[in-house]
Amino acid sequence: MTSKPAIYLDYNATAPIRPEAREAVLRAFELAGNPSSVHAFGRAARDVVETARKQVGELVGVVAGSVTFVSGGTEANALAIESAVASGVKRLVVSAIEHDAVVETAAASGVSVAVLPVDAHGVADLSKLSELLAGAGRTLVCLMLANNETGVIQPVAEASAIVRAADGLLHVDAVQAAGKIAIDFSDLGADTLALSAHKIGGPQGVGALVVGTRANVVRRQHGGGQERGRRAGTENVAGISGFGAAASAALRDLPQAADQGIWRDLLAQRVKEAGGVVLGEGAERLPQTLCLAAEGFASQVQVMNLDLAGVMVSAGSACSSGKVKASRVVEAMGRTDLAPFALRVSGGWASTEADWIVCGDAWLAAWKRIGARRREVA
Ligand code: PLP
Repeated sequence: MTSKPAIYLDYNATAPIRPEAREAVLRAFELAGNPSSVHAFGRAARDVVETARKQVGELVGVVAGSVTFVSGGTEANALAIESAVASGVKRLVVSAIEHDAVVETAAASGVSVAVLPVDAHGVADLSKLSELLAGAGRTLVCLMLANNETGVIQPVAEASAIVRAADGLLHVDAVQAAGKIAIDFSDLGADTLALSAHKIGGPQGVGALVVGTRANVVRRQHGGGQERGRRAGTENVAGISGFGAAASAALRDLPQAADQGIWRDLLAQRVKEAGGVVLGEGAERLPQTLCLAAEGFASQVQVMNLDLAGVMVSAGSACSSGKVKASRVVEAMGRTDLAPFALRVSGGWASTEADWIVCGDAWLAAWKRIGARRREVA
């Protein structure tokens, strides 16, 4: 039996670890010190953390002091939202396509939550934003930079102008955009910004919240004074070190990230010729994300067929329970009819043109089989 090489096109769920990040993690494991200790071993661990802070800051154009390390994108979003509420924000406006980490934290925050709709392309409808901000008391708006399912890039800088005119705050979940497109925190006009290491080729379980001068961080867990009092607990030195190395490598590789867009669009063309639909195609998107749908070809069936062909992709967003729900993002775009059929293909730093071609071959072969079966039944 010949075994087919595995093709991984599920980077938006998690990216394979970059060699630079793996090396940094292993090197940090050799250190014995606690970064809070004043002795030589402690100082060496502190150096590792501070080097990584600088590297992560560089990825989004901020100085190291603006970066607070946390356990991942979920905690970064929660720290931003809960800090804003603890600092007196009376209301949240959350876009209809935010990740569950934002949606669920907002729902549990105890303040009222309004939803900012998106248009048919999956872009936030900013014509509704001023209305939602009017007379509501100080508001935090949560608008992600790029969507995890469609890759659609959101008009964050334009939203920021509206939010600032209303004296509100803007939180940006940049977990999926980081390392895939250039990000400048000041140009975005964000007050807080969430990052996650494992989406850029770093280790899982580490992330960062970038905090601007207008925002306040109120600690959620109490204990030591780590992270300048913003997050108690001994730092994940190895994870943070890997995050820093991944951030530097991602920044270096940004010019090549656009190549994925050419390969992605060739696959999209084949899907469309076979009768499929590409979601968010009319909007600016991350170059390496493709969200497709073909009526009658259930998301889970697509994932299983591709898996059998050695190609790993996701149905909509990756669910921690392993269950696949109809895509909430696709529904928000007004395509409830296609929500059960959405598939996400996402490449990244190690993906090749051949990966995208083989994925297309496998998808088309499966779609043909499904079509033949449907014709037999009819
Ligand atoms: N935000 C977005 C847009 C995501 O796609 C994810 C992960 O899928 C998260 C937040 C959560 O990040 P983490 O897995 O690091 O907690």
